[in-house]
Amino acid sequence: MVDIEIKDGKIKSILSAGDGNKSSFADDDIYNAGGNLVSPPLVEPHTHIYGSLTEGRPHKNQEGTLEQAWRTGSYNREDRTEEEIKKKARKVISWFASYGITRIRTHLSSTGTPETDAADTDPHKAARIMTDLREEYEGIIDLQLVAIPTKGFARDEELYDNFESMFAEMGIDVVGGMPHREDTREKGVEHTHAALEIADKYDLQVDFHIDETDDPNSRYTEVLASKSKDLGIGERVTASHTTAMHSYPNAYANKLIRLLDESGVSVITNPLSNCVLQGRYDDYPRRRGHTRIDELLEEGVTVAIGQDDISDSANPYGDADMLKCLYHTAHFTHMNKIDDAPVLWDMMLYNNAEVFGVNIDDYGLEEGNEGSLVIYDAPTPFDAIRTIAPRNLVIRDGVPIAKTERTSTLLYDDSPQQVDFNHNPDDLQI
Ligand SMILES: [Zn+2]
Repeated sequence: MVDIEIKDGKIKSILSAGDGNKSSFADDDIYNAGGNLVSPPLVEPHTHIYGSLTEGRPHKNQEGTLEQAWRTGSYNREDRTEEEIKKKARKVISWFASYGITRIRTHLSSTGTPETDAADTDPHKAARIMTDLREEYEGIIDLQLVAIPTKGFARDEELYDNFESMFAEMGIDVVGGMPHREDTREKGVEHTHAALEIADKYDLQVDFHIDETDDPNSRYTEVLASKSKDLGIGERVTASHTTAMHSYPNAYANKLIRLLDESGVSVITNPLSNCVLQGRYDDYPRRRGHTRIDELLEEGVTVAIGQDDISDSANPYGDADMLKCLYHTAHFTHMNKIDDAPVLWDMMLYNNAEVFGVNIDDYGLEEGNEGSLVIYDAPTPFDAIRTIAPRNLVIRDGVPIAKTERTSTLLYDDSPQQVDFNHNPDDLQI
């Protein structure tokens, strides 16, 4: 156990428990974590704040498919005013903050739904709203914005200019893409190349929605990795979803995973949304829609973990809690051994931070690093995942930004007793 002292927004010292100098802090600035787990702040590498809290308002996704989610989500976003969208976004951001997340990569949706948004009369609406919010939350939550090009943008001058202006004029941070939504293989390749060239031109990070399908013939991740390798920008490129990888023949998957490793391209898995959206055209047995996490990690590819949809048409149950994401990943991916807990934990912390582009030298609980941390109501990562532990306190640069308490009391004994949801770490060496 340790005492952590934070001064002037930085971790000043980490000392053996009891060695901290309490007298140099006001009473209100001292928090007793009771020996519980502490981590650096969490990073959400893949979500869609702009379209969140829209399912059923007014349209519902009656099929539960991704295709239907695209259309429903688009109609549900269409008529909302800027202030309505901001109000919903602020609510979702408050959830992220309470769950210990201080950095969020979020994809815009104004040009993300090709069938309807291609005709959008205000293609910069999402960018405008989200850049406003980025400014509003500066110093509390870092919002990193990704723009997704409209289908067909590589061959259409107006759509291309609209997309490029998001980076050239509006300060959008990350270049997105969605080549598997294009009509043909050739158009998907052009889409990928055109977006990567913009990222190269403006020296930006890249994060594609890619091969988010069960179709084993959807093979754009290879194009993304190969072109990124040619441009020498692979270290700042991410392939989100890559769910088709679960349906590829093993020989092809093996080649692709090696190419990803050579190119430096990272992968983000979004287990909650994809386990409900994929396998929808299957009879029994039904596939689950996650990429090959174990094989990618084994080859050395950085695999991050994102939540994707927050209560929208793709996943009405999304709620911004990253620990729920880990909990379900442990089950769906057979990563349910006790020894898998540290692997999942590191994915959530360090892989997510790497994909986001956090300065890794300043991230982590070390003296001199950013004075940001999360305290869990659990003693170990294993218990934090198993119990989806409340985040008792979240601190950003030395300033508390959220606190949560959970108490359950048994009433069936003579004297009420508080329930302890955690294992005793002395009993279970984890
Ligand atoms: Zn997504």
